[in-house]
Amino acid sequence: MEPDKYLSNYIDGALVPPVSGAYLDNYDPSTGQVYSHLPDSDERDVQRAVEAAERAFPLWSKAGPEQRFNTLMRIAALIEQQREAFARAETIDSGKPLSLSDSVDIPRAQANFRFFATAAMQFASEAHHMEGTAANFTLRQPLGVVGCISPWNLPLYLFTWKIAPALAAGNCVVGKPSELTPMTAHLLARVCMEAGLPPGVLNIVHGLGPKAGQAIVAHPKTKAISFTGGTATGRHIVSVAGPMFKKLSLELGGKNPNLIFADCNFEAMMADTMRSSFSNNGQICLCGSRIYIERPLYEKFRDEFVRRTEALRVDAPLSPDSSLGALVSRQHLEKVESYLALAREEGGRILCGGTRPPMEGPQRGGYYLRPAIIEGLAPTCRTNQEEIFGPVVTIAPFDTEEEALALANGTTYGLAATLWSQDISRANRVAEQLQAGIVWVNCWMVRDLRTPFGGVKHSGVGREGGNEALRFFTEPKNVCIKYG
Ligand code: NDP
Repeated sequence: MEPDKYLSNYIDGALVPPVSGAYLDNYDPSTGQVYSHLPDSDERDVQRAVEAAERAFPLWSKAGPEQRFNTLMRIAALIEQQREAFARAETIDSGKPLSLSDSVDIPRAQANFRFFATAAMQFASEAHHMEGTAANFTLRQPLGVVGCISPWNLPLYLFTWKIAPALAAGNCVVGKPSELTPMTAHLLARVCMEAGLPPGVLNIVHGLGPKAGQAIVAHPKTKAISFTGGTATGRHIVSVAGPMFKKLSLELGGKNPNLIFADCNFEAMMADTMRSSFSNNGQICLCGSRIYIERPLYEKFRDEFVRRTEALRVDAPLSPDSSLGALVSRQHLEKVESYLALAREEGGRILCGGTRPPMEGPQRGGYYLRPAIIEGLAPTCRTNQEEIFGPVVTIAPFDTEEEALALANGTTYGLAATLWSQDISRANRVAEQLQAGIVWVNCWMVRDLRTPFGGVKHSGVGREGGNEALRFFTEPKNVCIKYG
């Protein structure tokens, strides 16, 4: 299956052009060339999608878990069957290495459907018995039409992480992928048609955030918005949806700390720290961007970290040898570079990377950057406080557990934290005090889809994953029945 040149919206079970007839350019980050076009949708497309979703809701919400299970499992199976095409499309669209799309993004997208298909069959609600008086049971009913808006860093992975639980719980969805990475959502629409998903149950509207995304958030008929993206966009969404009393799930930015104690398993820590720093060019919300090392280990860590980072191969994302592909867009590359300039101004020493590598042939126009490690920065400086979301990390030593905790907790963010120590008591103590929604001890990015996923402080509101997601996408109603 070759990707289309002109992408379509998916509304009411059909692939349709935008009402305006206008299209946006879609760039291949590995070359900087336009390679396809996506609908520049507006509120008229969203209106059609919402109407289709409303029409589909009565049947889908009453279809029962087994029918929903069967349909979602068919979607998962088709993604699996077309895995190669999906992985290639994801790589061309986002600039990430094919090895990553093929081993992480696409397997996880189909796992999301499989996981929530089975979760729908297991989901149960509570009952509260009042001795001799009454019984209460909690009805959990789907909300209706919900909006799902996702970012570009893990395009299909995060889009399906929202869509799958929303559909499993019996809702109908109007979704918008990032305008920078629309291709696999377009392929997903084809898969849904092939899988026999009833028309209108899932609608995908492509386009710009402030236009198409805004229309989904502001539409009076979307009952809930599940959003993953930047903190500033999240704040704006709250200002629109909050006064309309919509349910909101917000997965926002991060500035995740890694705390490395001197007693850690050095080899395991080094291997995972390389991944947590530079996987997907550091463009994963869970990547650790501030690395704090207990002083006795600092120099050994720094030298080995720099050596391994310099050995990473920045190459065309379709090349099998590529460890780091291209950043997602020219604008994002320039934003990351502006933080490198800021780090220098703030007194940081760039120990390696931070420059554009010389590329050959069509790759000369791509958005490549060598991964960078910076030391010598104060914890309060902007480089250490603001999200960069690129292949850039800072390192600094610490002396005591208290200092490590203060450094880790010293930002407005609180998504994830990683800590490395062989001392189980310390690991427990520190994990308890870290201000983060997710703490990894002696590992990184080990994911069980049943666990609550989300951040504290400016990293978000609410949790995704497992029953948390099914609860978000349903409204609890208490039914009280008096005895006798
Ligand atoms: P953005 O906030 O720019 O965009 C996210 C999505 O929202 C895109 O689909 C975007 O569309 C859309 N959007 C933009 N403006 C509006 C609006 N006014 N109304 C409705 N929708 C809108 O984030 P990025 O795409 O740049 O993604 C990177 C960010 O996502 C980082 O901050 C990262 O930390 C965060 N993130 C958080 C995760 C978590 O789980 N906490 C996971 C992954 C990423 P368009 O693309 O067209 O602008």
